[in-house]
Amino acid sequence: MADKRDYYEVLGVQKGASDDELKKAYRAMVKKYHPDLHPDDKEAEAKMKEVNEAYDVLSDRDKRAKYDQFGFAGVDPSYAAGQGGGGFGGFSGGGFSGDFGGFGDIGDIFESFFGGGGGFGQQTRSNPNAPRRGQDLRTGVQISFMEACKGTGVDIRVNRLERCPDCGGSGARPGTSPETCPDCRGTGTVRVSQRTPLGVFQTTKTCEKCGGRGKIIREVCQSCGGQGRVRRVLSKNVKIPQGIDDGQTLRITGEGDCGINGGANGDLIIRVSVKPDEMFEREGFDIYSEVPISYLQAALGDDIAVPTIDGNVKYKIPAGTQNGDTFVLRGQGVPRLYRTGRGDHHVSVRVEVPRNLSKKQADLLRAFDDSLEDRNSPGKKKFSDWFKN
Ligand SMILES: [Zn+2]
Ligand SMILES: [Zn+2]
Repeated sequence: MADKRDYYEVLGVQKGASDDELKKAYRAMVKKYHPDLHPDDKEAEAKMKEVNEAYDVLSDRDKRAKYDQFGFAGVDPSYAAGQGGGGFGGFSGGGFSGDFGGFGDIGDIFESFFGGGGGFGQQTRSNPNAPRRGQDLRTGVQISFMEACKGTGVDIRVNRLERCPDCGGSGARPGTSPETCPDCRGTGTVRVSQRTPLGVFQTTKTCEKCGGRGKIIREVCQSCGGQGRVRRVLSKNVKIPQGIDDGQTLRITGEGDCGINGGANGDLIIRVSVKPDEMFEREGFDIYSEVPISYLQAALGDDIAVPTIDGNVKYKIPAGTQNGDTFVLRGQGVPRLYRTGRGDHHVSVRVEVPRNLSKKQADLLRAFDDSLEDRNSPGKKKFSDWFKN
C-alpha cells in the first residue's frame, strides 16, 4: 500500500487532464495490459487493476476533487487508517470503546486530537527535508522471437518527473531560495498539548505556516509551480540483450522519476514481451522446431535443409527415419543471457504421408506394399504377432 502510485502517474496524464485525455489514456492502458492479451500474467493483471482503480477515481468528478485535495486518504479511508494507524497504537484497539462518553466513535477521537482532515499520513511523516527516492517507472516493449535471440534496440517513451531545470529543484524562483520555516524550524511539524477526558496529550501536528514542507517559498518558480520537478517525456533507445525471454524485465538504474531533496532517482523498469514465432518454440535457451519430410525421404534418407536462427543448416537424415524422430543441433539454440554459449536446437521430423492419390498412384502404392516383407516393417510385424498370440 505504501508503494501506491499516484493515479495521474498510473494513467500517464497531467494533473489537469481533461475527461477526453483521461479516456484516451485509459483506453491505451487497457490495450496494453488487458488480461486477454496476457493470460496468466500476474504483473499485467496487477497493472490492469491499478489502471482501473485510477480511472475509477479520476473519471468521477467528486472523487477526483477529493483525491486532488487529500491524496489517497480522500478516496480510500482504509488507506488513511493504514498509513496513520501505526503511530497511534492503542487508540485503534477495542479496549477504549464504550468508556468515552463525549466521543462518538473512533473517527471523532482522531479528529479532535489531530485536527481531522485527510492528512493522517502527513502528521506521522518524518522529516520533510529528508532525501526521498524518486518513483520507479514501468513500461513495456514487444519484440520478435528473432530479436530476442539476437538482441536489438528499441525506442521507448516514458513520461517522468525530472528536476526542474530552471530552479534546480528548489521550487523557488531562479535567483531566490526557499527559507527555513520559522514556526517549525524546518521540521514540518509543531507540538500541541490537548486536554481530553483521559488527561493531557502531547501530539504533533502539521505546521500550518509551511503546510508541513518545512520550507517557505516566497517566490515560486514558474516552470514547476514550486514542486521542483517537472514532467517530461523521455525518449530513449534501449539495448535489449540477446537471450532475453518473454516476460523478463530490464532495470535501468536512475532513469525513473527524479528524487526529492537530493534523493536518488527511481529506476526505469522495462518488461519485454516476445511475440511467438511460427517456426520456433523456446524453452529456456533450447529451441524446438519441426521439419516436414516426404515419405520417400524418410524411407531412403536425404540431405535436408533445417531452418535455424542462423539460417538454413544442412542435415543428413538416415534411411528409415520414422515420424517423430528427433535430432539435436548442439549449440545452435538461443544465446545465454549475459553469459557465453548457447542452448541446443531440437528438431523433430514429421513424415508427410501422401494424400489425394490418383488411381494410378494408389495402384502403384498397393503393388509396392505387396512387395514388402516383414523385415521392412518390423514394428508392424511385432504388433500383429502380439494379436495372434
Ligand atoms: Zn522550478
Ligand atoms: Zn513550518
